[in-house]
Amino acid sequence: MPELPEVETIKNDLSQKVLNKKISKIVIKKPKLVKSSYTNFKKDLLGASFFEIDRIGKLLIFSFRKGKKEKYLLVHLKMTGQFIFVGHNSLVAGGHANSKEESKRYRMGGLEKGLPNKFSHIIFYFGEKEILYFNDMRQFGYMKIVTKDELDIIKNKYGIEPLQKNFTWKNFQKIFQNKKTNIKAFLLKQDVISGLGNIYVDEILFASGVLPTRTVAALSEGELRKVFENTKSIIKKAIKYRGTTFSDYVDSSGKRGNFSDFLKVYGKQKTLCPKCARTEILKIKVAGRGTHFCPYCQN
Ligand SMILES: [Zn+2]
Repeated sequence: MPELPEVETIKNDLSQKVLNKKISKIVIKKPKLVKSSYTNFKKDLLGASFFEIDRIGKLLIFSFRKGKKEKYLLVHLKMTGQFIFVGHNSLVAGGHANSKEESKRYRMGGLEKGLPNKFSHIIFYFGEKEILYFNDMRQFGYMKIVTKDELDIIKNKYGIEPLQKNFTWKNFQKIFQNKKTNIKAFLLKQDVISGLGNIYVDEILFASGVLPTRTVAALSEGELRKVFENTKSIIKKAIKYRGTTFSDYVDSSGKRGNFSDFLKVYGKQKTLCPKCARTEILKIKVAGRGTHFCPYCQN
């Protein structure tokens, strides 16, 4: 699932491609992915242009004007959503990779030849030659148009966010005080800290030397402080390297990069722990999610 760094990367990449371009055509193949009124969806967006792309947690917010009113297209990629923009000699893709084959095709070039594919459920055209595909294999992702008031209500449901001003040690401590749930489940709650998911929570807890099954209230101040600091530094580094899942980027600038080279525990089960080299990384279920950790380095 795309997490904060992946969604941030998509936001930045798409901002360079689709802003201030008129939406000339919209094809909706799976109406159920549109959570607001289907007819208004097209009516609102056709002829409009996005003037800003923002993000809160894992939610993308595309701002546009309809007459004098500002409206917002919200997009959540959920498990398997992905955006692919194909334009003049450029391609931007972000989100989930459906297969190794697809990732490879993306890296080697030629991904655009397979589009639209059977997972391309919503397609935006900016003129004849610039197309934005919203693909979603499992169809948990969604799009929704909201007003400013509705957006504010939604934003209020999100917790503090790493790299934002309100992500302070003081706020962090307050939120984590006396919580009886385990640290893994707590970090995954979007109304506590917004944007974290399975990959980064496992990495943060490994870097902090804290077992994912520990009860939040039982952590020492020093341990909690490590979780706080590592949340900031790991998310920052992951954004620098353009996330982990599928965020890669090919265009004339030739930028590339991937955080997967820096993963220490996520997806590393049965390999030797890179820190202690004494034991293998284990994978168990915590909070209903596959959870990776080192039984020696994490206490
Ligand atoms: Zn270890």
